[in-house]
Amino acid sequence: MSFDISSLATARVRGLCPYMSARRIGGMGHTFLNANEAPSSAAFLMSSQKLNRYPDCQPAEVLEAYAAYAGVSPENVMVSRGSDEAIGLLIRTFCEENRDSIIICPPTYGMYRVSADTNGARVLEVPPREDFSPDTAAIRNTLQNPENRVKLVFLCSPNNPTGETVKRADLLEVLDAARDKALVVVDEAYIEFCPEDTLADLLPENPHLVITRTLSKAFGLAGIRCGFALASPEVIKLMLKVIDPYPICDPVAQIAVQALSKNGLEIMRARVKELNDRKERFIAEVKKLSRTGEVFGTKPNYVLFRFRDGEQLFSDFVHRGVILRDFNDKPRLKDCIRITIGSEEEMQEVLRILKELDK
Ligand SMILES: *Cc1c(COP(=O)(O)O)cnc(C)c1O
Repeated sequence: MSFDISSLATARVRGLCPYMSARRIGGMGHTFLNANEAPSSAAFLMSSQKLNRYPDCQPAEVLEAYAAYAGVSPENVMVSRGSDEAIGLLIRTFCEENRDSIIICPPTYGMYRVSADTNGARVLEVPPREDFSPDTAAIRNTLQNPENRVKLVFLCSPNNPTGETVKRADLLEVLDAARDKALVVVDEAYIEFCPEDTLADLLPENPHLVITRTLSKAFGLAGIRCGFALASPEVIKLMLKVIDPYPICDPVAQIAVQALSKNGLEIMRARVKELNDRKERFIAEVKKLSRTGEVFGTKPNYVLFRFRDGEQLFSDFVHRGVILRDFNDKPRLKDCIRITIGSEEEMQEVLRILKELDK
């Protein structure tokens, strides 16, 4: 018998399942509308002059550019290897292993649980209300019970996959319930598609509020792994104790600065307008089909639909090489499929298949 190397791993690691990202689920396909990526990338220039040097942990020009874009000061900004890293850092910074917990409101983004599991934080699920908005009274109750030791409340706005933004009044209630107890994290990965709904202006009055952002979605840069946390300087300082020494490589910093320049922001806003317009037209067409049921929130660059026999429909799409995201097994989302708004050709292909299968 040969030695089983996996027996050396910690019990926690042996018990983990890796996060099933859209990329990992993959599938044989030619059209990928399962990861909420932008349909194409802009062009960027790159200098190799400083590649011999270690980069700054927090490149000042990136912090300044993002702060200007987000309307905060650079000391309120942390840049990370995608917003996924910021989520992990929050848990490692604030949750005592095997004791403290986070609150999530599923169905929501999967990384909060994955990050908690890998870092030994407990996960308390507080199901949302009927309309999928956070159940603020239930969150307050969960926060009040000292045995729960809640340190972080994760809200997602717009929520992935249901597409609704968190209402200001609901966030204010959660912030009030969490005051002096826990941090409230609002994940605004898709906020560029509905900038009027940002809650970032509540940061100055609420040092226990954290907003996470990313260049992966509306900025069309999922490939460079660049995200941000906006928070009080105290919270940022604590997270910077835990972050790796060089999370942002020099080419990433160069691209991020260009993406956040005046010209880069214009390109992003034009992309948002194009995708939002395409989304409206796509939804109108899908609504005409007989197997379309519920259409969920429509703020971000994806739409969650409930279809008659959604599970079957999802695999019919896979067989045609079109990979969507199946939510059939998630709470309250039986027969639901999430579709990313891609290029015009991609959406026409989806519509053509939907019509063909609607007979
Ligand atoms: C895609 C996504 C992220 C991940 O963003 P990265 O910056 O690419 O790590 C975070 N939150 C939500 C809700 C997302 O859908």
